[in-house]
Amino acid sequence: MKSKLFLAVLLFAGGSVFAQFSQKPLPYAYNALEPHIDAQTMEIHYSKHHASYVKNLNDALKGKEAANDKIENILANISKHDVAVRNNAGGHYNHELFWSILTPKRNNASTELVQAINASFNSLDGLKTKLNEAATKRFGSGWAWLSVDEGGKLIVSSTANQDNPLMDIASKKGTPILGIDVWEHAYYLKYQNKRGDYLSSIWNVINWEEVSRRYAEAKAKK
Ligand code: MN
Repeated sequence: MKSKLFLAVLLFAGGSVFAQFSQKPLPYAYNALEPHIDAQTMEIHYSKHHASYVKNLNDALKGKEAANDKIENILANISKHDVAVRNNAGGHYNHELFWSILTPKRNNASTELVQAINASFNSLDGLKTKLNEAATKRFGSGWAWLSVDEGGKLIVSSTANQDNPLMDIASKKGTPILGIDVWEHAYYLKYQNKRGDYLSSIWNVINWEEVSRRYAEAKAKK
């Protein structure tokens, strides 16, 4: 009994030196976004690609103080970390955001978000054009983002690899509220080289309620 208790205390105390990041369960089935995103892509993307970022992030942070930090703090100080932390902290955060802003249930943006989109891009179509343009121009692997900038304004940007607008090294900083993964692993099985077809299709499965929630949360912090 005593040794078991000792072990439990030791594990509890030691827990703080181990990195703790893990994947949230996917909020829908792998095939839920078909035909826009196919089940096999979703399964590999979530259970292999995203899972690897989490494992590699935990490995990269092992024994480091930042292992106990919030992911947002790690990203805000990413210039102090090595490339393994940069790639995998970005990879983990970006995919958690990505799964959350997709849904099989069509829904609508809040009045506040619609007004902000109209103010910055004239219309929802204006935003789609701008974001798709950023996503199309991204050479190689990366992301296209809709973010709330320091001044509370909506901006579109794109980052390479697994970088994102929360990182201190980002050229356009902000709080991302919608991100589109343009790594080939996000679309290649279904769309092959036709990134543009993937980009037109993905608008059918955007979770506007979640994007609106993130918009309100980001605005409240400015
Ligand atoms: Mn991805």
